[in-house]
Amino acid sequence: MIYLDSAATTAVRREVLEAMWPYLTESFGNPSSHHTVGETAALALADARATVAAWLGCRPAEVVFTSGGTEADNLAIKGIALGNPRGRHLVISSIEHAAVSESADYLRRLHGFEVTTLEVDGDGLVDPGALAAALRADTTLVSVMYANNEVGTVQPVAELAAIAHERGVPFHTDAVQAAGWLDLSVTELGVDALSLSGHKLGAPKGIGALFVRGRLPLEPVLHGGGQERERRSGTENVAGAVALAAAIRLGDTYRERNAAAATIARDGFVAAVLATVASARLTGHPTRRLPATASFVFPGTSGESVLLELERRGVVSSSGSACAAGSDEASPVLLALGLSAEVAQTAVRFSWSPDVTSDQLREVAVAVAAAVTEVGSLGR
Ligand code: PLP
Repeated sequence: MIYLDSAATTAVRREVLEAMWPYLTESFGNPSSHHTVGETAALALADARATVAAWLGCRPAEVVFTSGGTEADNLAIKGIALGNPRGRHLVISSIEHAAVSESADYLRRLHGFEVTTLEVDGDGLVDPGALAAALRADTTLVSVMYANNEVGTVQPVAELAAIAHERGVPFHTDAVQAAGWLDLSVTELGVDALSLSGHKLGAPKGIGALFVRGRLPLEPVLHGGGQERERRSGTENVAGAVALAAAIRLGDTYRERNAAAATIARDGFVAAVLATVASARLTGHPTRRLPATASFVFPGTSGESVLLELERRGVVSSSGSACAAGSDEASPVLLALGLSAEVAQTAVRFSWSPDVTSDQLREVAVAVAAAVTEVGSLGR
C-alpha cells in the first residue's frame, strides 16, 4: 500500500512514541502537582514548550498547548477577537479550514461580528490589495492560512501580515499544513498568532499548539483551572506535548533536504500525471505550493470512483479535506478557486510524507492513469 493522504494524518513515528512513552507510564504526573511525580511532568512540559518556541523563534511563554489544530484555530480567532477592544470586524480568506471559518461564523452569529471573506484567484492566492481594501478601523483580526490543505497553495503570509500591521490589526495564520515543510519563523512571517497540529507531523492526534504574541490580549475559550497561563484550562497533555516536540526535532533536522526532495518528486509526479491523463488538471498554484501535495481534477470522471480504483491498485489518497470525506457537496475550496461544482466533484488529492520516494510516485502516476481510464470506460 502506498499512503498518499498525509495531509489528513500521519503515523506516529517510532522515535516520537519512544519519547512520549515514559510520560504515559512511570512519569505520568500532573504538572500542576507539587510533588516529585508532578515536577517531573512539569519539567518535561517546559522542555517541550521550549522546543516548540525555538522552532517558531518565539518565547516559551508565547506557546499555548492545545488539543490540536482545530482548538488552536478556535482559540486564535475567538480568543483574539473577543480579547481585542478594537471592534467587531474580522477578515478571513475564502479557503480557510472550517476551524477558522466556523469560528468566525460563530462570532458573527453570537457576538455581532461582521466577517469579510477575501476571495482567492484561480490558483488559490489571496490578493494583498484586496486585504488592504478590506481593513477597517474596527477590524480586530485577519486570519489567512499559510498553506491550503486541499490544493497546497502557499500564501504570501509575510506580505499580508505587514499590510494588516500597517493598520494596527493583528494577524493569525493556520500553519497546520505548512508545518514540517516551510519555514515557520514567526519573526520572518511577522504573524501575531500561528496554529499547529501534531498529527500532521508524526505526533499523535490530540495535540497542537498556538503561538500568540505576548502582548496580545487573549480571551480563553476553555475555562477552568487556569493552566497554560490562564489561556487554556485543562490538565496538560504532557505526553502529547513531548511527542510534538520530538516530532519537531526529528523533522527539523532534515526539513530542507526533505522539502527539496519532495519538491522534485512532486514535480515529476505532476508532470507524469498531466502527460498520461489527457483530462487531468492540477489545482492550486503551479509553483507556490506545498512540496508534498498535488491535487488534480479529472473532468468527466467521478473523484470518488477514481479513489476506489486507486485503492484497488494499492494507492490510498483522498478527494480533499478529510473532514468533508463522504459528503456529496463539492469542496468549497475548489468552488472558491472558480471550478464548477461538477468539475470539483472529480478532485483527487495526493499528499505524502518525506518517506515516499520519486519511484513510488512514478508507480502512482501509472496507477492514476489506469484508474481514470477504468472509471472513464465504465462511464462512472
Ligand atoms: N487547519 C488545517 C489547515 C488542517 O488541514 C487541519 C486538519 O486537517 C486543521 C486545521 C485541524 O487540525 P486538527 O485535526 O489537529 O484539529
